[in-house]
Amino acid sequence: MIIAANFKMNHTRASTKAYIDRLNCTELSHDVRLFVFPPATALDRYESIATIGAQNAYCARNGSYTGEIGLEQLEEFGIKTLLLGHSERRHIFNESQEFITKKFNFYKDQGFEIVYCVGETLEKREEGATYTYIEEQLEGIDLGYERLIIAYEPVWAIGTGKSAKGEDIQEVLEFLSQKTSAPLLYGGSVKRSNIAEILSIPKCGGVLIGSASWDVEEFIAMIEIAKEN
Ligand code: PEP
Repeated sequence: MIIAANFKMNHTRASTKAYIDRLNCTELSHDVRLFVFPPATALDRYESIATIGAQNAYCARNGSYTGEIGLEQLEEFGIKTLLLGHSERRHIFNESQEFITKKFNFYKDQGFEIVYCVGETLEKREEGATYTYIEEQLEGIDLGYERLIIAYEPVWAIGTGKSAKGEDIQEVLEFLSQKTSAPLLYGGSVKRSNIAEILSIPKCGGVLIGSASWDVEEFIAMIEIAKEN
């Protein structure tokens, strides 16, 4: 089971270090795998029980791409895991499917583990277009890639405190599982009070947690619950 923390634009290098030091005091059971995605400025070669990943990277080794980081910057810290297609990248920074696919292919060719996010907007859900929308987000993505993890994150559930209902998550995970054998995560307002229920959904291989993961004690409490599941 995978438990992943997405810091988004939160935490500094110092607070990330303190977070990871505290996390390292946790005992993991063999079936739990942790990921932490700090902001780019806090990437480092941490001694950590969690796999450290980047939230975003440009599809080049280095070059004239002001404001971006690329393969060379990730290699400096031994980072081999990347989050791609997050709804905030798609909807706030207008990343197109074509652009995301370019990044996916570049980092796939480098052998990166990729946590690839998909999820419908409220508008699409209300139109009954959830599955066509998700299909579009899978266009160009190699669903047979052996280092792929897919996170289903309905946009309307991210950072809103309102998680999707168990049956809706189950339906979408079922749909995704017919297309890929990659582990499937759910993300969208996962917290201490709902993590057990979410992890008990068939085909749910773990969770991607945003806001509730930023406090390390909260994150550890959720890991403890996951261990009992
Ligand atoms: C996320 O950032 O991937 C996320 C799911 O955020 P939150 O848990 O805050 O909804």
